[in-house]
Amino acid sequence: MSEMVTAVISLGANLGDPQQQITAALTALNQIDGVRIKAISPFYQTKPVGVTTQPDFINAVILVNTTLDPHRLLQNLQQLELNFGRERTIRFGPRTLDLDIIDYNGQKRNDLELILPHPRAHDRAFVMVPLARIAPYYPIGDQGTAATLAKKLLQEKPREKVKVLV
Ligand code: ADP
Ligand code: MG
Repeated sequence: MSEMVTAVISLGANLGDPQQQITAALTALNQIDGVRIKAISPFYQTKPVGVTTQPDFINAVILVNTTLDPHRLLQNLQQLELNFGRERTIRFGPRTLDLDIIDYNGQKRNDLELILPHPRAHDRAFVMVPLARIAPYYPIGDQGTAATLAKKLLQEKPREKVKVLV
């Protein structure tokens, strides 16, 4: 345990009942020792990127306060993914639950298991658009704030349109 910091986590699911998976995952996340959810974005329905012949995703982003160090946090997220029945098969493929650390207290790192901020988050409308709703001024590394990145992505990649669900 160390001092309490703010982190950004993204949630995604496109198998089973994705909306219910995300909702259940939020409850489970908040029950992790050393993790408290401070804000939850609306849920978005998004088209898959990469492997496009798979069901739409439900995505959301949360702000948490945590006393866990980044690796401990990642371990807990990966355990949750397993608890939700995720099988690691195809990269970028369908999954019952995907939890990524988008940012951890502005920290930069590039380890084998953990890259911070998340290397693709700034380029993903399904992460930046939800984040912009709960923390528009949140900086993503040197890429800009969530709101400016979200606006840019929606202009440049209108196909990655995201639809608010709830
Ligand atoms: P993806 O989320 O890119 O579709 P996975 O969820 O299977 O793929 O993650 C692959 C690996 O990415 C994980 O084993 C994890 O160690 C690594 N990883 C690196 N940086 C991060 C991060 N910021 N958040 C989550 N996982 C990360
Ligand atoms: Mg992941």
